[in-house]
Amino acid sequence: MPHDPLHTDQARFKWRELDRAEPPKRAAAERISDFHEIYSLFDEATIREQASRCVQCESPACVTGCPLGNQIPKWMALAAEGKFLEAAELSRSTSAMPEICPRVCPQEKLCEASCVMSPAESVCIGAIEKFINEYALARGAGKVPIAPPNGKRVAVIGAGPGGLACADLLSQWGYAVTVFESQLLPGGLLLFGIPAFKLEKEVVERRANILRQQGVEFKVGVTVGKDITLTQLRDDFGAVYLGIGALKAKPLDCPGAELKNVLQGLPFLAQKNAPIALGLPPVDVRGKRVVVLGGGDSAMDCLRTAIRCGAADTVCAYRRDLANMPGSRKEYANALEEGARFLFLTNPIALEGNAAGEVTAVRCVRMELGEPDASGRRKPRAVKGSEFTLPADLVLIAYGFDPVPFPATSDLSQVAVNDWGAIKTDENQMTNLPGVFAGGDVVRGPSLVVHAVRDGRKAAEGIDRYLSAP
Ligand code: SF4
Repeated sequence: MPHDPLHTDQARFKWRELDRAEPPKRAAAERISDFHEIYSLFDEATIREQASRCVQCESPACVTGCPLGNQIPKWMALAAEGKFLEAAELSRSTSAMPEICPRVCPQEKLCEASCVMSPAESVCIGAIEKFINEYALARGAGKVPIAPPNGKRVAVIGAGPGGLACADLLSQWGYAVTVFESQLLPGGLLLFGIPAFKLEKEVVERRANILRQQGVEFKVGVTVGKDITLTQLRDDFGAVYLGIGALKAKPLDCPGAELKNVLQGLPFLAQKNAPIALGLPPVDVRGKRVVVLGGGDSAMDCLRTAIRCGAADTVCAYRRDLANMPGSRKEYANALEEGARFLFLTNPIALEGNAAGEVTAVRCVRMELGEPDASGRRKPRAVKGSEFTLPADLVLIAYGFDPVPFPATSDLSQVAVNDWGAIKTDENQMTNLPGVFAGGDVVRGPSLVVHAVRDGRKAAEGIDRYLSAP
């Protein structure tokens, strides 16, 4: 048996000698003056050391904890030996965007949470995945083999992470893939929703260019249901993938919600982060007191974007406590460092305004957690007599999203949806319409980028089976 230093007992216990390291991060005072990414890469020596901390478990829970089933211990072993290109190749084999997921995944809830040394000493999986793939891309590596054309055509609707992941696998297997995107650039929420301080736009553009090199064609500025019908696409293509997201913002349901300067968070994020002008009405937060309502990642993004745009004060009001907040703990910590304030167990009950109809304050009530609801989370309830007023010049609503209902006049309305408008799919991600597949937020509701990537890959497998059937 060949000598394998990583499987000696000595190597397996490296974690006893080496502490977990965090990737280099710019100081808060510096990073709030721009929109560049806040983390940079470890150096090669640190990557080798940190990768060597992997215990090489026989049944690695990190693989199960990653929605893509990334072969983490295998690429850790290669990275520990300095074989970064081989590690990246293996990482790319299970992920359509192995340089993007580590930037945006909440590792503390996924792969790193499942590490046997979690929480304090888990291997820094995300930072190592990002390094090996950036290392490969910088050297023109990280390409996947492309099969000869098989003569079959697939239309992908929506160039977000799920659509790109579906297009990636199908193009590798020789399918002619055309991606239709309503915006003028591919990327979806990667481009228009996630701020550049988490994911620089050049990184998304680079991934789209890799797909172009794989033969994927992008038709941008095309809205399916308006510029082209589903029926036309079904006639022209062997299969269709719907990766159209869930973009109907949940409203704020309390008196005063109609006041001026009470805005949805996503258009604010898109306006401040998109690499192209979107024609949205400008929102100026300079010198303003900004209150963000919600506790998810979009709320964190709104706070941190408002800080970078010069807000005088940024406060997040969330109705549950920190332990029950859905947002990433890493991004919460980053928001705190950058000056955001958090009011947990706080719910808005009314917005107050001035004579000009502009919001001036959020009337709030303190909450306490009661019995668990159907989802198992403890249900918040108002504490009587605990109302208080939070001054606000601008309120951003970040309560999440539902799928946009299909207009009755569109043939998209033939696609079966459930009670809250999400598309119903079978175990192959196929809808009620033969050859029409769907995945990502439009099926599962707002979720993580890595879940959309997983759905896109699973749908590609379903499409391949469907189009290969005798
Ligand atoms: Fe972890 Fe996300 Fe990478 Fe999977 S894709 S290994 S969950 S960072």
